Amino acid sequence: MAEWLAVDSDRAGRVNVQTNLSVPGHPNIFVIGDAAATTGPDGKPLPGVAPVAKQQGWYVANLLMARAAGKTPPAFRYRDFGSMATIGRKRAVAQLGAFKVSGLPAWLLWSLAHVYFLIGFRNRLAVATNWAWNYVTFQRGTRLITGISGSRIEDVMPVVMTAPSMVADVGKDPSGRGAPIPLRAELHRQQSPQHA
Ligand SMILES: Cc1cc2nc3c(=O)[nH]c(=O)nc-3n(C[C@H](O)[C@H](O)[C@H](O)COP(=O)(O)OP(=O)(O)OC[C@H]3O[C@@H](n4cnc5c(N)ncnc54)[C@H](O)[C@@H]3O)c2cc1C
Repeated sequence: MAEWLAVDSDRAGRVNVQTNLSVPGHPNIFVIGDAAATTGPDGKPLPGVAPVAKQQGWYVANLLMARAAGKTPPAFRYRDFGSMATIGRKRAVAQLGAFKVSGLPAWLLWSLAHVYFLIGFRNRLAVATNWAWNYVTFQRGTRLITGISGSRIEDVMPVVMTAPSMVADVGKDPSGRGAPIPLRAELHRQQSPQHA
């Protein structure tokens, strides 16, 4: 995005925004969430997590309303309400200010919080039902691509990978007669096992 806007970014490519989350030199363009490089009150970079993105969204919405009313709101300030992480099938850790909890109570808190913060009753019901089903059927909610066999194009498309002309001339039919060969990324998307 920084490249697209032709503005400064940090090493991760996140746009270095002003304290009101606008792009330097463009007071009416805002960058928020994972795409923005912002710092907390301690001067450290804010993490790329959902609470940061949500608070920044609220901030910009309020800023626009304030501007429309002829006011200039103060700089964005992130409020850290705590952190939670699951560490097993029914265990988690949570720290909310000075309050710390772990094990099953933390896992229940984590589950409730994630469902609660979804938008709309339908989404909450769908996610809760999915989770309950995955839980009782022992299905994994998230699959990580770790480089194991089956996760790379070489594993699923050995013919393509051993045909240099097709790899080199992606998008072209090597014979020059038939339909265009799909790009490698497209082949991967069409033929690889499901990655979630
Ligand atoms: C696997 C994983 C697990 C995570 N777990 C957690 C967690 O447990 N807790 C937590 O707080 N955070 C977690 N995060 C981080 C969290 O998801 C992000 O910080 C948060 O979603 C950032 O919100 P965002 O609005 O900046 O970006 P996103 O939520 O990524 O939203 C960006 C949206 O823009 C759309 N988009 C992209 N390009 C274009 C375009 N050119 N035109 C139109 N639309 C476009 C995308 O499709 C997407 O919908 C996780 C992230 C990942 C990847």
